Amino acid sequence: MTIEICTVGGYDEIGRNMTAVKIDDDVIIFDMGLHMENYIASTEREDVVKVSADLLMESNAVPDISKIKDWMDKVRLIIPSHAHLDHAGAIPYLANKFNCPVICTPFTAAVLETILRDEKIRLKNKILRLTTNSHYTLNKDIRIEFVSVTHSTPHTVIVAVHTRYGVIMYSNDFKLDNFPTLGKKPNYEKLKELGDKGVACLITDSTNAGKLGKTPSEATAKQMLKDILLGANLEKGLVVVTTFASHIARLKSIVELGKELNRKIYFLGRSLGKYVIAAQDVQVVDFRQDVKLDRYQRQIEKRLQKLQKTKSLLVVTGHQGEPGSVLDKIARGNLNLSFNENDSLIFSCKVIPTETNRKNREALEAVLRKTGIRIFHDVHVSGHAAREDIRDFLALVRPRNLVPAHGDLEKRSSVKSLALEMRLLPEKNIHLMNDGQRFRLA
Ligand SMILES: [Zn+2]
Repeated sequence: MTIEICTVGGYDEIGRNMTAVKIDDDVIIFDMGLHMENYIASTEREDVVKVSADLLMESNAVPDISKIKDWMDKVRLIIPSHAHLDHAGAIPYLANKFNCPVICTPFTAAVLETILRDEKIRLKNKILRLTTNSHYTLNKDIRIEFVSVTHSTPHTVIVAVHTRYGVIMYSNDFKLDNFPTLGKKPNYEKLKELGDKGVACLITDSTNAGKLGKTPSEATAKQMLKDILLGANLEKGLVVVTTFASHIARLKSIVELGKELNRKIYFLGRSLGKYVIAAQDVQVVDFRQDVKLDRYQRQIEKRLQKLQKTKSLLVVTGHQGEPGSVLDKIARGNLNLSFNENDSLIFSCKVIPTETNRKNREALEAVLRKTGIRIFHDVHVSGHAAREDIRDFLALVRPRNLVPAHGDLEKRSSVKSLALEMRLLPEKNIHLMNDGQRFRLA
């Protein structure tokens, strides 16, 4: 049996996820993501419009594909599991190095195509669209299946690769949400069926493996938002919400609650435009009746000039305190609007724990506090499975080999200790890998 796995990136850090799996003479790449902090630092430092793949690799902003240089001509497919940039964002820079198509769900494809258009990058690779819960036959020995699962962006899939040696499964990222507010529940029947068939190896998300209990459903986040938007006496002023632009389910909840408040809803900012238009293009949602979307500075200025505060709900970019985001500009008085003590701001997110984000958010909040605006923090639930979710998932899938991914050693070790506690597989079959390492399946 010759299945070899190279854990290219995302094993020593959160970000720049990439795993390559060699099945006999065919290589499949799962994810090709950015390390956001390093990416922003390197693109800012170089002050260039088009950054080169080599520069990004040197800055650890993208996976180091030299780790699979002897496999380059064997790569048959690149499969991003979902649209988040730490999983798909390096494709525009690196995919050209491989002579093969990219295959992903329609929302992921729409986001990728938008990025390519915005950044004026031409990919020679075809982008193939495969819907959730369907198959793609690569050759007589390998078949790809997309299993629907929940996460914090639409059309996230668990990828199952059917081989003569069993199934290779890639579940990075996911949560088990039985009450999603957009899209379907995870396809448990299929996961069980694959477990019964025999999963030779599972490569899986360990981001929240150290968190005890179960990750709350997205329905809980909607209830948290409802509690504030409909119950916290916000009527005297403007209501502003900021959240992840790619979190279409969250945006849908905000729109539904904004309508209940009888407020006009405005989405302001470029990245909101990017993801919302992609979601509308593939019929995930349709906000056009209910939301006015302004992407660019001049449109936003015009909109804010005539804004009736008590009749408006703004959804803006800048949840991590990013300098230059719409929220940052308003707070610093760089747009035609100022906040005061009658206004309210909801952070429907958490701070992604990097040094830059912490500093940016602290600086932004210091400015915001001077305006007197009410601030509601952490109105959010995670998109990653916690310990008890991972337990349920492992019990369904029952892999013969396990590779915890997406996190530092501590996070990945939490998956290992859980699998050992469950007596699911022998310790030698649980592989704690570093970036750029390889192993062969026994
Ligand atoms: Zn994700």
